[in-house]
This record gives sequence, C-alpha cells and structure tokens, in this order.
Amino acid sequence: MKLYNTRSRTKEEFVPLQEDQLRLYACGPTVYNYFHIGNARAFLFFDVVRRYFEYIGYKVTYVQNITDIDDKIIEQATEENQDFQEVAQKYAAAFLEDCAHLGIGAPTHQPRATQVMPEIIALIKKLVDTNHAYEVDGDVYFATTSLPEYGQLSGKKIDEQKTGARVAENMSKRHPADFTLWKASKPNEPFWSSPWGDGRPGWHTECVVMSQNYLGESFDIHGGGIDLVFPHHENENAQAMALSGKPLARYWMHNGFLNIDGEKMSKSLKNFFTARDILDEYDAEAIRFFFLSKHYRSPIDFTRELIVESDKAVDNFYKALEAFELDSLNVKEIRCPECLRLEEDFRSCMDDDFNTARAIAILFDLTRLAKNSESSAENRLDAARMLLKLGKVLGFFQHPETRLSKQMPDLSKALIELMLSYRTQARAEKNWAKSDQIRDDLKALGIEIKDGPTGSTWDQRN
Ligand code: AMP
Ligand code: ZN
Repeated sequence: MKLYNTRSRTKEEFVPLQEDQLRLYACGPTVYNYFHIGNARAFLFFDVVRRYFEYIGYKVTYVQNITDIDDKIIEQATEENQDFQEVAQKYAAAFLEDCAHLGIGAPTHQPRATQVMPEIIALIKKLVDTNHAYEVDGDVYFATTSLPEYGQLSGKKIDEQKTGARVAENMSKRHPADFTLWKASKPNEPFWSSPWGDGRPGWHTECVVMSQNYLGESFDIHGGGIDLVFPHHENENAQAMALSGKPLARYWMHNGFLNIDGEKMSKSLKNFFTARDILDEYDAEAIRFFFLSKHYRSPIDFTRELIVESDKAVDNFYKALEAFELDSLNVKEIRCPECLRLEEDFRSCMDDDFNTARAIAILFDLTRLAKNSESSAENRLDAARMLLKLGKVLGFFQHPETRLSKQMPDLSKALIELMLSYRTQARAEKNWAKSDQIRDDLKALGIEIKDGPTGSTWDQRN
C-alpha cells in the first residue's frame, strides 16, 4: 500500500510498526460549537482509513481526541453564561451524536484533554528538565532552537518563521517560533495546579499525551486536515522528537479542504454550514458519497447540487440491491470471476493512497453488473453482494435494511400521505393539539415529518 506522507512529500510504501496492526491517531474537535461540514470531511475520511485497514485484515487501534479545554471554549462559556465544562460537555455530546448520524464509527479510544492533566504536566516537566522547554512568569514554552529537526514535518525553516512572526513577537519568548506548552491562567479562568503555578495546557501537548497514552511513543499514522500541518502537527512532533528522538508518527496524512466559493470553510470566516444542519437536509450517505467521490487530498467545493447528485448516486446503489433478498446479499462467498476481479481493482485503488474516487467508480461497475439483465441470475446476485461488501468498506450500507425497507408497499405510502393531509387540515384550523398528535403518532411508528415553507414531507428514520 502506498500513502502520501506529508513528512516526505511523496507517496511511500506503508510498513506498519507491527505486522497486521495499525496504530492510528486523528485530531478530533475542540468542542466549543457544533462542527461544520468541512470538519466532517476530516472525521469521515479517517473513519474510512480505519475501515479499509480492518477490511484488509489489520487490527486497528484508532484514537481520536476531544479538546475540552481551550480559549475558545472559555469565550463561548462567557457568551452562553455557563461554566466551561457545561459548554464542552454539551458540544462534545453533539459531536458524538452528529458523527453517529454521519455513520462514523466510534474510535477505539476517545480521550478528553481534561482527563489527562497529570500526564500532560509530567510531559512538560520532562521537556523542562531536558532543556527543551523553559518557564517565563508561569508560562512554559518549547525551545524550538533546542531541536535541530524542528520544521522537518512542515518543511518550514525556523528563520523563515522568525521574519513572519516578528510582528506578533512575544517578548518573553526566546525565539518567535517557540510555542506554549503551559499557559498561566488569568483571574476567573479555569486552571490546574502545576509546578509553574495555576494554568492550563497548550493544545499541541494535549494531542501528544492523548496519542502516546494509547499508541506508544511512536505510532503508524497521524491524521488531520491540511491546516493542522503547521503549527499543530509540527509542534506535536517536536515534543515527541525532543522526548524520545523518534517522530510521533511515521506517516502523516492530511485531507484537503472543503471550500465554499473557493475559500476554506471555517468558523472564523463565518462561511460554514454545521454538519447538523446539512444532515437535516440531506441523507448521511449522500454526504459520505459527496466527499469520497473526490480524492481526499484534493480540495472540494461545497455545492448543494453536488450533494443532490450524490444522493441520486447512492439511490442507484440501493436500487441495484433492492432486487435481492437482504439475507441472500449477506452471504460471504462470492464466486463470479468478474466480481472478484473488481474487488482486486477496488483494493488497488484504495492501496494507491486511498483513491476513493476510483474505488467508487468500481461500485458503479458492480451496480451495472447487478442490474444487467443479460447476466446470469447468479452473477447478478454476486455483483450485488460485492457491491454491499465493498460499499461497507467505504462506510455505506451500514443499515441497508432500513433504507431497503423504505421501498414499502404503495398502500403504506398512501396511508402516510393521507395522515399528512389530515395534519395539514388540522394546522389550517389551528388545531395544534391534533396536528402534534398526528406527528407524534407517526414518529412512534418511525415516520418523521418535516415542515417546510412549501408544505410537509415525511421520511422514515433509520
Ligand atoms: P478543528 O476543530 O478546527 O480543529 O478541526 C477539526 C478537523 O477538521 C481538523 O482535522 C481540521 O484540519 C479539519 N478541518 C477544518 N476545516 C476544514 C475544512 N474546511 N475542510 C476540511 N477539513 C477541515
Ligand atoms: Zn491534534
């Protein structure tokens, strides 16, 4: 398998530290708000990395952190007039909910920064003791000049940063590139006690501790969005290098941006849509398709048209599966030679730095085969089986039974439409009790009603 390693800026052959085992870490969210659909690209892609390694027989330990203490969380807490922990708790719960809705599997471990404070303090202490870090008035900085390899991951040279950083130069730092490991707390801010006084850790140290706790001092793959290469990942790696002489991870994978009108979707530019809102409008599998139909390193432009097209493509997959009994699709043994060849092709696409765009083209080939009336019934069934199997590797078809059972008999549909018309009538008469009752009763049967400007629609919940 070949992976593009940001560290070497080339595709490299992937060799795990331990045979058939993958130790994977991807940076998770800072929980001060609902995450946007751009963040979803990162979470979703590393979910696919994990799924693919499992499919080729690896035992995967996948760690994703939750940053639950940060300046932005403190600011948001002030805005919402709440404790920082309440804010972090609320958005962490929303994060988990939205990820589940997107079909992202739970990582093996999902630690939170506030749970590992003693380890964070111990790590910083080691860096201070070995002269890789220094304290100034309760703040602790990493001494970038103490590490000749600093800048290796991102390809930035310390002196280049010096000129760039001079404007915002912090006079207490020895070098402008030095970064904060521990930050003294201001009055009324949350704090933890440390040898340098009350304060809180820097983000870069949190990720080092949370990854190494579960994956050891050096692991296989570290992932995140391309914006994290510098300074976040450079600074994570610097701490690991200073401590052990080894890189934190051997392969660094970064997904490209989700753009909107050619610009990175981001909270600060306020050009974002939350994943939560998009999931209200579109099916989770359409969103998955939208991302995976492009290579993970390429930028993607967010447009509603593309998501609608993706939804149609996923529908097409389901139409191919629909012709067969679900039980017969789950059979493991597939014999059709053409389907087996397509599975090989699928693997070579994925082995080529996760070319999911080409892998998806193979799902289309299987869809065509499954529908091809000139093929034998056996081969068509095998094509549908292979489509289900490989689709699952990309995270599709996790609950095919619910989507396939949407193809309910016409009579049920007609009855639901009838109930909806009664509800529209009740609403016109301002009989809210009746309209709510119809909505709740249908909900109890798994039918969700959505009221929009042009009327009400219904959907069957997964
Ligand atoms: P954050 O909460 O900002 O640290 O972001 C969480 C993850 O989303 C990180 O891996 C980021 O690199 C990634 N990310 C942020 N914005 C985008 C974007 N517009 N497109 C793709 N990935 C993004
Ligand atoms: Zn991180």
